[in-house]
Amino acid sequence: MIISRLQTKTMGALLVVMLAMMLVIGLSSMALIRDFSVRSATEHTRTAAEMIRVSLTEAMLNDTIDRRASMLRRLAQVNSLNEVRVIRGEQVIAQHGEGLPMESPSDDIDRQVLESGEPYFGLIGGLFGTEFRATIPYIASSNEDINCLACHQAPEGAALGAVTLTASVDHMKHAGIATALFLVVIMGLFAVLSMFFMGRLLRPLVKTTQEIRKAASLASGGDFSQRVRSRSRDEIGQIAVHFNQMADAITHKLTEIRDHVAQLVNTVPDPRANLLEETASTVSGLVKVAQFKQAIEEDQTTEEVFFRLSEVLRAEFGLAHFTIYQVDPDKRLMETVIVDGVLHDAIRWCHPDILEHCTTCRAVRTGHAIDGLENRNLCRAFDEEALADGRSYLCLPIIQSGGVGSVVQLVVAPQNIPALIRARPLISAYLREAAPVLQAKGLMASLRESSLKDAMTGLHNRRFLEEYSESLVAQCKRRQTPMTLMMLDLDYFKTVNDTHGHDVGDEILRELASIFQAHLRESDLVIRYGGEEFIIILLDTGAEAAMAVANKIRLAVEAHPFKVAGSDLHKTLSIGLAAYPDDAQAFWQVLKYADVALYAAKENGRNQVVRFTAEMWPSGGEY
Ligand code: GH3
Ligand code: MG
Ligand code: MG
Repeated sequence: MIISRLQTKTMGALLVVMLAMMLVIGLSSMALIRDFSVRSATEHTRTAAEMIRVSLTEAMLNDTIDRRASMLRRLAQVNSLNEVRVIRGEQVIAQHGEGLPMESPSDDIDRQVLESGEPYFGLIGGLFGTEFRATIPYIASSNEDINCLACHQAPEGAALGAVTLTASVDHMKHAGIATALFLVVIMGLFAVLSMFFMGRLLRPLVKTTQEIRKAASLASGGDFSQRVRSRSRDEIGQIAVHFNQMADAITHKLTEIRDHVAQLVNTVPDPRANLLEETASTVSGLVKVAQFKQAIEEDQTTEEVFFRLSEVLRAEFGLAHFTIYQVDPDKRLMETVIVDGVLHDAIRWCHPDILEHCTTCRAVRTGHAIDGLENRNLCRAFDEEALADGRSYLCLPIIQSGGVGSVVQLVVAPQNIPALIRARPLISAYLREAAPVLQAKGLMASLRESSLKDAMTGLHNRRFLEEYSESLVAQCKRRQTPMTLMMLDLDYFKTVNDTHGHDVGDEILRELASIFQAHLRESDLVIRYGGEEFIIILLDTGAEAAMAVANKIRLAVEAHPFKVAGSDLHKTLSIGLAAYPDDAQAFWQVLKYADVALYAAKENGRNQVVRFTAEMWPSGGEY
């Protein structure tokens, strides 16, 4: 635009200069011609005046002066002379009388010329007048061929009279105008031609500049498709060629980068999409995926990983509705880890049945992504209310250890479907990065869990107690709640092994664990402390309430028929009980007191619950 404006301005300036020149040349040519006309008319009238003087003198000498009027009339008929008038000066009037009426001064110019003796030459009607007037005095002189003073009684140098001649200068004026017009036309033609050639000269520059400007502006937005036509072999043409080479190189390199990046995200690049923006956004997406991977590798638990994933879904992809499910393939169960960004919230976007039977989840069953964006009836487990609301879903399984370990379910309203389709490759990239990390964290967790569990009964083991005893006390302290420990031991268990064998003994221990769990709350902890000794920790429970629970368990075991070799076997249980903080402040001391109480229960005849009392532990006794 600037170049074309420059061109317009230059052209305009040229036009103004040309017009000014035309005006100056026109006017000055007219002035020149006028001057020339005046000068030539002056000469003509001087000559005519001299001829008239000679004629009049001759007429005087030949005594034909009376016929001067007709002579002057004939003279006036001479081409271009309009009027010829001779006027008498004072001396002549005094000597010869007033003469003819036409011989008296008729205007101020006549009188002034007679008075001053100076001739008058001028155009009548100003600068562009059409008539030239000359009033020339006849000065008395004795030095000429014919001595004026011989006949006229006048002093030397006096104005004897004057002749007034008017001549038409029309033809000269017309010639002047024609010349001026001619010059103006020539100049005009010159102006038009020079503007035309200048325009032609500047056109490649203007066009190339405009094209480069347009192409560069598109390129800055990522569109490198525009090329510039090379119109000449000069620098302008070379600029166009270099620009095209640069655009080709950038397009080639960017396409290469875009294709590689697309491979990383598993997408087919859209050839119509903006090359720069598409590549830049995919690369920045991949950088974020890499940062995500780095972050989750340093996370401690799978829950933290899922939470980070949930934040990505919310912040990066603007998804408000989603569920992350964790699958337990052994138990064929699944649970909600995060629902709409909230940890362990209730299931919202699927029928709750899928939690109990994970194979009713289509994504778990097939191991494929379930695309309910187009076909919303694909999965029957999708929440009916959400379906009625017009929502769609996309369920992406995360494969861990060869099976579906988790499922990310994304739920969107119809207007958000296109955005989710666009985001899907990048979301899948996040899930691909999350899968091995989740698998490793899951394995670590299960390893850790198994190291804290008793393999035979599935109960916690002694290591668990060692690891968590301190935090249990700290928790009670913080919440200022009591905690009661029970130590349980089967009565005469040795005889079972001796009579029925070790395997039967094991089976009884397993059944015993189930009886414990059936009579306890989820928050109570059951630990196989060793052999056939168990510890039960009742949180938020004082000794009184714990005594009731312990008796309930004792009675349940007593009543339970263990199936041994086709017949029922009944076993009893002794329980010792001590409480925090009433009996002791340190965990292991409370445990010791529970053991002491158990010993008392055994001593007292077994199949009973004994609460620890201070008398059972000699004062000053050390644990
Ligand atoms: P009481 O406690 O009433 O004094 O008599 P008891 O016979 O039960 O004696 P004690 O508690 O000392 O017996 C421990 C027995 O429990 C020894 C061992 O045979 C048995 N036992 C310990 N661990 C296991 C186990 O893992 N499996 C089986 N089958 N038996 C075990
Ligand atoms: Mg024992
Ligand atoms: Mg025993």
